This record gives sequence, structure tokens and C-alpha cells, in this order.
Amino acid sequence: MRVRAQMSMLFHLDKCIGCHTCSVACKNLWTDRKGAEYMWWNNVETRPGTGYPTGWEDQDHYKGGWRRDENGRLKLRLHSRASGLAKLFFNPALPELDDYYEPFTFKYNDLFDSPQGEHQPTAEPVSKITWQPIEITSGPNWDDDLGGSDIYAANDPSMNGIDAAIREQMSEIERVVFNYLPRICNHCLNPACVGACPSGAIYKRAEDGVVLVNEDKCRAWRMCVAACPYKKVYYNWSTGKSEKCILCFPRLETGQAPACAHSCVGRIRYMGVLLYDADRIADVVSMPEDQLLDAQLDMILDPWDDRVVAAAAAAGIGDDWIDAARRSPVYQFVKVWGMALPLHPEYRTAAMMFYIPPLSPVISSIEGNLTRLDLPEEREDFELLEDLDKARLPVQYLANLFSVGDEEVIRKVLKKMLAVRTYKRRQSVDGEITESTLALLEAAGTTPEEVEAIYKLTTIPTIDDRFVLPPYHREVSIETLNDPLAYKGETGFGYIEPPRRGA
Ligand code: SF4
Ligand code: SF4
Repeated sequence: MRVRAQMSMLFHLDKCIGCHTCSVACKNLWTDRKGAEYMWWNNVETRPGTGYPTGWEDQDHYKGGWRRDENGRLKLRLHSRASGLAKLFFNPALPELDDYYEPFTFKYNDLFDSPQGEHQPTAEPVSKITWQPIEITSGPNWDDDLGGSDIYAANDPSMNGIDAAIREQMSEIERVVFNYLPRICNHCLNPACVGACPSGAIYKRAEDGVVLVNEDKCRAWRMCVAACPYKKVYYNWSTGKSEKCILCFPRLETGQAPACAHSCVGRIRYMGVLLYDADRIADVVSMPEDQLLDAQLDMILDPWDDRVVAAAAAAGIGDDWIDAARRSPVYQFVKVWGMALPLHPEYRTAAMMFYIPPLSPVISSIEGNLTRLDLPEEREDFELLEDLDKARLPVQYLANLFSVGDEEVIRKVLKKMLAVRTYKRRQSVDGEITESTLALLEAAGTTPEEVEAIYKLTTIPTIDDRFVLPPYHREVSIETLNDPLAYKGETGFGYIEPPRRGA
């Protein structure tokens, strides 16, 4: 057992309000500069939808992530070593400008300089490439709140396999539904970006699993951009280097949560340490598809287990990190309560950011100006577990996103969430917990004690409950004193010099 620590983020999708504060906080902190205009290290997508860049989940087109060959061996979907060489100067799997959007700004000065007239002046949009006026036709989350539309929802790759009748129903105006999906780099355990980089510029640092680009070594081959199935590496046209989410490691090292998490208005984000067994990564990511998810979750170790603690100590993980792993809200949701899942485990990158899938309202129809829920007459609400199939977001859709198509996994999570909701509603509205409510909890595989704990961490957590950050050992950080390359894998890189094109 080779124990490693990973700083991990958890997104409670039931709570995301799609305000994009996270994206803007990240943008202002890290990518508000030349060459990074179109970079959204954190973005929030409306789902069902095509996401950002458009259609990023279509790996037939983008060739991201890993695949398992006929002999059970793992291969980059993008290329082999030899064919990679042939593609060095032309890579058709790269997203293009149109898949992102043409960066633009507004002529704000017109607001001040326009001559006096009858109408209020407006700030016209101009392209940041040509500086000519443009008509804006796309952008990050251009399909904001248009989840049911024929353009976006209909072209969502995760809608594949969903019954045609259900798809049709979903686009009827009174049944339209959407949820939000915030995304950052998943700081994967088996990152395809690292596997594809010909220059060896991308690496996963050992102390907390953050995946970083060494901009001094990056040679702009952009294989990482193509190989990341989540499209979370971006190419900076100004410096000629790749850039990606750094999980705000300078903030983590000073005891602060990443900017996206700290600023999250819905308080949907949690952060904590997960311990995992690095010896098992190769086996896990080569598993047949139906075993992938379980294997990945199994790889996460119990920080209370004495053998794990001993192995962690032997690997140099300090007591303070083990203590943080024990108090980690991510561990609690992922392992103890079994409520959170990685995004698209079938990409075989072993993504280490986790999501709690969202509940959605019951299918309804309009009859004589009244909304009619698709439930039997005697039922007014959506509290009984067998009604999950009446949810507007099909379970199959969520399964395509989070559980390699296995609906049972999603049902289990949603049942538990419904059980929590019902229990607390009975308690606060009806003022009593009946036998039938307890039976509901049992059917969902939970108990009143667990429900209370889930409720507390979901609805009324303090900032210290949400972000359990271990102390980073700045006293052993050597990056400001020595050449960090000599200590690769041991500590974070600082930019001793800013990246320069051609360097
Ligand atoms: S999500 Fe992040 S770590 Fe994973 S492959 Fe993409 S860029 Fe690399
Ligand atoms: S800030 Fe939080 S609630 Fe708002 S969009 Fe981002 S993740 Fe969702």
C-alpha cells in the first residue's frame, strides 16, 4: 500500500444556483490577462446542454481520456507514441476558436465620450482579436438556463441512450428542466494531460495531488489540451504556454480555500483531504467499465484504519494531514455516506473532484391553466422513493454523467437525499416522525442519526466545516530558495521568472 494524499473538492449540485460567482472569482484572480481571455479554469454549465467548450464530452471528436484495448491495457485515446509524433504539427482533435468563443470586450469609453443625444449611449462589443465590432454569438455557458432547447439539450452527448419519448417530453416547455454543473480541473490520479505531454511539462505534485504545468518546460505542443477529456487545459496564445487550474495552491498553502470555493454563493463546495492507495491506480483505471466506479471509490482509504495510518506515516504524511483526512467533508460525503461521484469515470482518468447529483421536480403538465403533477391523485408531493422515475431529470441522464450509465448508483444517492428531505420536513412541518418515515429511511439505507448529520453538513455548515484544510508545511518549502526542478514532485513550483514565448 502506497498512501498518498489528495486535496479534493466536492460539489453539491442540489445547491448550485448558477450565479457564476465562482467563475468570475477565478477569472479575476488567475486568468484576467493577455492570452487568457477565453480561459475559464472554473466554468458553470447548464445541463442538459453542450457545455464549454462546445460538446467537450464528445470523445469521438475530441479523443480525450484513456481507453481500454482488447487486451485490457490502457491506451491514450488521442494517439500512440508513434502516431503522436506524426501529429505534432497538426492535431485535428484540438478544439478551435469557434468551440470556445471569439474573445470580446466592450467600448466602454462610448458611455462617457458619446455626444449628447436623445438616446442613452451603449457600449458596443468589439472583438479582442480584430478590435472590430462583432455580433456575439457564443461564450462560456452561452446556453445559460436554456437546458431544454433544441440547440443545446438536444445535442448533449450525455442524452445518448435516453428514450426518444422522454427526450421529446423534456423539450416540452412545461417540462423543461435544467441544473448547473460547475467544473474545474479534476486533478486526476491518472491524468491524460500528463500522459500526452511530449515535453514532460505537466506533473502531479506529490504533497497534495495538484496537477500543474511547468511553463519553463512547456513547448506548446498542446497535446494536453486535446488529451484532457474535460477540456480543462487551455493554450495561452500570448506566452505560447499551456495553462490550467492550479487548485489555488498558493491559497491552500496559506490556509485559504480556492477562490471559486471561497466565493461560492450557494455554499455548494466543500474541500478536504482524501487518502488513496497509489499502488492501485494502474489496476483501477484498466478495469472493465462496469467495475470502474466501484474500483475508483475503493481506492480511497479509511483514515481511521490503523494500517492506513501506519502506511501514511511511513510515506511521510504528517499527523496533521491524517487528522484533516479524518475530518474531511469530502470523505464524509463520498465514502461514509456514499452520496458523491466523480464526473465521467469512464474517461479512466480517476478524477478526484466529486459531485452530489441533483434532485429535480416531478414531471408536470398544464391542464386548464393549472399545473398537474404526474403523480396519483392522492399524492401531492414527491416524497416517495418509487417516484424517482417521475423526476424531470431522467435518472439515466445523471447516470451517463456520473456512474458510467449505472442507474442504480444514482437511485441510491437520490433516495438518500429524498429521505433526508422527507425526514426533516416531517420533523419541522408535521412536528412528528412516524413509523412510515422511519421505514422510508430504512428503505433508503440510512438512519435518523445519519440523516441529521447529512442535513447539518448540507444546510448549515460553517466555513470550517466546509473547508477542512491541512496545514501546509511552509517550513520545508524550498521553492523560493532553490531550483524547484531539483525538487520536482516534492513541493510546489513558483514562477521564478514569468513565462516568455519561446523560452
Ligand atoms: S481534468 Fe485536469 S488533471 Fe485531469 S486530465 Fe484534465 S487537465 Fe489533466
Ligand atoms: S458560486 Fe457556487 S452557487 Fe454560484 S454558480 Fe458557482 S458553484 Fe454554483
